Amino acid sequence: MTAGPVASPLPPPRALYLHVPFCPQVCPYCDFHKMRRHPDLVAAYVARAAAEAAELAARWPGPLRTVYLGGGTPSHLRDDELDAVLDAIARGWGALGGLETTVEADPLTFDAARLARWRDRGVTRVSLGLQSTQDAVLALLGRTHRGRDALDALDAALASGLEVSADVITAVPGQDAERDLRAVAAAGAPHVSVYGLTIEAHTPFARRGVTVDDDRAADDFELAEAVLAEYGLERYEVSNHARPGHRSRHNPVYWKGEACLALGPSAAGLLPPQPDDPPGTVAVRVQNPTIKGWLRGDPPERTPVDGRAFALEKLMTGLRTVAGVDLGELRAATAIDAPAAFPRALASSLDGALLTLDGGTLRATRAGTRVLNAVLRRFFDEG
Ligand code: SF4
Repeated sequence: MTAGPVASPLPPPRALYLHVPFCPQVCPYCDFHKMRRHPDLVAAYVARAAAEAAELAARWPGPLRTVYLGGGTPSHLRDDELDAVLDAIARGWGALGGLETTVEADPLTFDAARLARWRDRGVTRVSLGLQSTQDAVLALLGRTHRGRDALDALDAALASGLEVSADVITAVPGQDAERDLRAVAAAGAPHVSVYGLTIEAHTPFARRGVTVDDDRAADDFELAEAVLAEYGLERYEVSNHARPGHRSRHNPVYWKGEACLALGPSAAGLLPPQPDDPPGTVAVRVQNPTIKGWLRGDPPERTPVDGRAFALEKLMTGLRTVAGVDLGELRAATAIDAPAAFPRALASSLDGALLTLDGGTLRATRAGTRVLNAVLRRFFDEG
């Protein structure tokens, strides 16, 4: 591995992720940290989230540019509970409103009045867990809403004046993915995130032996780009499509390997190294404990990341985006010179027209995006 003399320090965090683990249902394909709500547990969660926000803000005062409430289902919090966590964030880092503040929401958890309330509280964007517009697909996925609810929720979100993103799951057995994609785009969603169903170990789907047809998943991946493009939504990351002016500002924090604060049980973040981290550490991954340890105030698990590992992470996430990876920025952040460090992976991917290198920026071609995991393996194998 070829490295320059010193990496530039990772700039302090300007983004915050808050994990809200409560859900109205427990979906059989989901491997996120989630649970059903119980009044005492939610009260303890809100109190601990406020305390953790104060601790984090004292150490990392911001200012923040993006706040993302994910889960779980943040919209499953009641108004007073959501107000309390938004207030805690505002106390720590200043008023929301000027930032991009996203709340993940499920259909059946909000109406026009709640959306207006969220907007008044500084929320600017709703990420709608719509998943499908087909009743049979939603039932298979274990969702409590139906197709009509999904489209009604999308209409209400679009009418609220908030930025809106809709999640669609593809490659579900029995699904007509094109019908879902067209319904969501035709309704006017300016941002659509498309995820192929994956069967994660230890989920009910895995235990039941549910399988995903790989060819079908690949076809749906192509279909998503083509169908959404008809409605003016451009794919700007493997799973994300937007009309001009409607791209997420928070998600690129992950794709570019920028620092992000983690708040809430099992939340993951990335922070600048501290003086007592091992020599060569360029960033530190942090992972909060799950709810029991988190409520006790147990500290996050810290994993120091060296320049080599950070360069590979940045290639892995950056090549998923149309913006690609600026190799000069990669060198500055990691002290790794990619052409010298990965000569064979680069040469074979450029020769095979899977990657392009233009003005110092490395990007995946359309063919490369289809086989991105195999392309990335070449870099990991050489690293
Ligand atoms: S609503 Fe989302 S986070 Fe909750 S169980 Fe379903 S897929 Fe998982």
